[in-house]
Amino acid sequence: MLHNIEPEEYRCEYTPRAAMPSDYLMAFRKNEILLNQMENGQLPQIADLPGVDPDSLQYLFSISGRGFFLHPGTPAETDALTYRHTRALRAVTPLWMAFAGVTAYHLAVWYGHTRYCGACGRPMVHKSDERAMVCPDCGNIRYPDMSVAIIVGVRNGENLLLTRYAGRGFSDYALIAGFCEIGESLEATIRREVMEETGVRVKNIQYYDNQPWGYSQSLLIGFFADLDGDDTLHADGVELAEARWVPRAEVQDRSGDISMTAKMMDAFRRGLI
Ligand SMILES: [Zn+2]
Repeated sequence: MLHNIEPEEYRCEYTPRAAMPSDYLMAFRKNEILLNQMENGQLPQIADLPGVDPDSLQYLFSISGRGFFLHPGTPAETDALTYRHTRALRAVTPLWMAFAGVTAYHLAVWYGHTRYCGACGRPMVHKSDERAMVCPDCGNIRYPDMSVAIIVGVRNGENLLLTRYAGRGFSDYALIAGFCEIGESLEATIRREVMEETGVRVKNIQYYDNQPWGYSQSLLIGFFADLDGDDTLHADGVELAEARWVPRAEVQDRSGDISMTAKMMDAFRRGLI
């Protein structure tokens, strides 16, 4: 999965230091990221962008000693550096570089949304000792936002409940997923999402794995569960276009994909779960 970058070591602690030319430059334009086309679409290093002021860059994290810094604006493209949709990161190698890009995107979204205080509207400043933004006027402190979301593989004997989303570019079959609401347990989220999207009940909910997923600023928590009772599916037609029970042998082989959804589908397809 995207975050399984061992033996490389991701260090998220907020330990800012001066940027060096060999550190990586993370720059975003809405949902696009600046990539180096001269280096097979890899992340650019600070030295690749002429005229950048190292003191203007925001320290994000390190991976095995390499620093990653966020550009505060939207630098112009060059012959080598162009913006690509962040989904292009799914194909970037090595894996630690793809993980760095998606994780930096999550942080960039958060920094972009905390420039002003949500309580009094004044500009926020970075706290010096931890990753948080603080309002100098009213003292409001904002820590990085991360949504909790569930993904569930619902089994009906030798069949897996797969769905296809309406109105999205991602047309492959996927598992049921959804965000936890405030005041809701993970198990309650699973029961609600499965009922809302397909009209069936589940039992025997078992934790499987989890995945930080910066694309949606989320921590995804994966489960398997068994159908409880009637197997008649009622796709809601709004959020989901289609829901169906897929026999184990017909589950799509997505073993090369970096997502937990793909890992879960693969585990079922291979009879591991
Ligand atoms: Zn304030």
